[in-house]
Amino acid sequence: MVKDQKFYDILGVSPDATEAQLKSAYKKGALKHHPDKNAHNPDAAEKFKDLSHAYEVLSDPEKRQLYDQFGEEGLEQGGGGGGMAAEDLFAQFFGGGGGPFGGMFGGGMREQGPKKARTISHVHKVSLEDIYKGKVSKLALQKSVICPKCDGRGGKEGAVKKCAGCDGRGMKHMMRQMGPMIQRFQTVCPDCQGEGEIIRDRDRCKQCNGKKTIIERKVLHVHVDRGVKSGHRIEFRGEGDQLPGVEPGDVVFEIEQKPHPRFQRKDDDLFYHAEIDLLTALAGGKIHIEHLDDRWLTVDIIPGECISPGEVKVIRGQGMPSYRHHDYGNLYIQFDVKFPERLGGEDGAALTEEQIKALESVLPPRIASTTAPPPDAMIDDFTLEAVDPTRESGRARGGASMEDDDDDMHPGAERVQCASQ
Ligand SMILES: [Zn+2]
Ligand SMILES: [Zn+2]
Repeated sequence: MVKDQKFYDILGVSPDATEAQLKSAYKKGALKHHPDKNAHNPDAAEKFKDLSHAYEVLSDPEKRQLYDQFGEEGLEQGGGGGGMAAEDLFAQFFGGGGGPFGGMFGGGMREQGPKKARTISHVHKVSLEDIYKGKVSKLALQKSVICPKCDGRGGKEGAVKKCAGCDGRGMKHMMRQMGPMIQRFQTVCPDCQGEGEIIRDRDRCKQCNGKKTIIERKVLHVHVDRGVKSGHRIEFRGEGDQLPGVEPGDVVFEIEQKPHPRFQRKDDDLFYHAEIDLLTALAGGKIHIEHLDDRWLTVDIIPGECISPGEVKVIRGQGMPSYRHHDYGNLYIQFDVKFPERLGGEDGAALTEEQIKALESVLPPRIASTTAPPPDAMIDDFTLEAVDPTRESGRARGGASMEDDDDDMHPGAERVQCASQ
């Protein structure tokens, strides 16, 4: 049951029309009655305006509900925000730009939700320690609030008048003669400078200077829960900007975890790199890990465990607390095994014979002894040299230096020559 059917009649649809039906009815009507197409028919301009107004209301679910329930009076009270000029709606609907009949059906319709002040978004960077332990951050923001002195009117009660020049829209249509053509264009209303309202200077609110809002500092307590992840959003509904006639905006904090010098995090697990020496890797020892809550973990490496370079081990339950659960992820430790640079041999770079004998007596046999070439294979003997970085980089650059010697040579030919050397 709707109170008033007028807007539906204007669009030629029934009160239970779907959004798509409304849209298509408006498109059809607006194209037919657009003033550019009906220069000699003043009724069309009026019809075009009515169509636009009807569609503007019915395409907004909140306004439509108000209209269905209370008729046009309902909109005056609760609709909020100045109505949209017919030409604007048309441009928005058909994509604007290049004249109303140029960009037809090109642009999409902007979403028509209830009018609401913008959302204030902020990325809140948090350390891994704070995520491990949980904390409450106090964050201050500047927001506009309805002026308490004039209750958002901008002036003394009754002193704020709707601008007669633009009927409160702030924008105005003007006509201009351009040779044989009359051009219609829209401009900011000169009477109210686009405000849609007129306040006499002496009635203007002293606190907000007629702006209706003032800037206020507000501190919000943001709960950083244990185990929260990057990208998590904490919303404060209605704590954002206040503007007259619209719903207050929201404030949204997005958690971003700062990188940590010791740990990498993947979901609830932590990853840690531990450097151990060869002796510890083979014969056992201890490592110490500073955790995120001021604890130190002492980890025993069992003698004879023989940890290989790059090997990963796990300590269960020492990862991150899982968000809103009561368990913990794991701590994975990847070992870098640091080999001794010198073992005290006679020339400073080799092991003594006794040391080698001692190693041979405890370590598994050499792999080479089990992968010897067949007895009839051709054998070439080599020894290794240390790598000399200056010589290697010279080779990597190839024949770059030759360019200077043979500058009459075709660069392509030179490359081929170098490659074949
Ligand atoms: Zn004020
Ligand atoms: Zn005005």
